[in-house]
Amino acid sequence: MLKIEDVSKNYSHRGQVVRALRGVTLEIQKGDFVSVAGPSGSGKSTLLLILGGMLTPSEGRVLLDGQSLYDLTPDERAGIRRRKIGFVFQTFNLVPYLSAIENVEIPLFLAGGVDGSSQKKRAAGLLERVGLADRLDHKPSELSVGQQQRVALARVLANEPEIVLADEPTGNLDPDTSRDIIAFLDEINQEGRTVVMVTHDPGAAKKARKTLRLIEGDVLPEEQVAPCV
Ligand code: ADP
Ligand code: MG
Repeated sequence: MLKIEDVSKNYSHRGQVVRALRGVTLEIQKGDFVSVAGPSGSGKSTLLLILGGMLTPSEGRVLLDGQSLYDLTPDERAGIRRRKIGFVFQTFNLVPYLSAIENVEIPLFLAGGVDGSSQKKRAAGLLERVGLADRLDHKPSELSVGQQQRVALARVLANEPEIVLADEPTGNLDPDTSRDIIAFLDEINQEGRTVVMVTHDPGAAKKARKTLRLIEGDVLPEEQVAPCV
């Protein structure tokens, strides 16, 4: 369902070209739970952004359900992203001056078609699901980091994405909280959502059913991966 074909990404930085991805081809099936590992700077975040329709590759194609994402107009691509893809970041990216429930309402508001009270109800339900029913009106600064990440997860689920992309979602969390977050990603994968997660945490990677390893912008073949996991 999500396929990337011969994708390269070059960044130019102070006159130098950085080759962040070097001709990566891979296929992610509907319902997969994939972890992406590799040293810092190997291109993991670049790969995730390209998969999610947020960063145009220098070469190659990304096919989502047969549609070539970067041959669409930016508006069409943004529409698909809003309907099908959810992103979780290491730094959560919550809006600091909005409460937990308002943060979760953002994607519902952007998608439109939902009246204010159903929007509130749905957002409250999602926060309840992640165990934050009693924190709806707290601002991010009034929540622990683990709770902030749970708000980010509730927000990601707001539009029922088929695909959830998570870039080091437990990078800032203690081991217990990390386990909760990974268990939650596992749960939403069991519901049939495709999950692709960048992680350095071997415990987290174990939950995934497949591991991709990136080295200097190349994906190692899977048979080379198995012994490292
Ligand atoms: P990872 O997530 O594995 O740490 P990244 O995908 O963030 O790796 O980065 C891959 C390489 O591309 C690194 O060498 C990084 O410095 C470089 N890079 C990433 N983003 C940019 C950018 N916007 N401009 C220039 N270079 C970048
Ligand atoms: Mg990264």
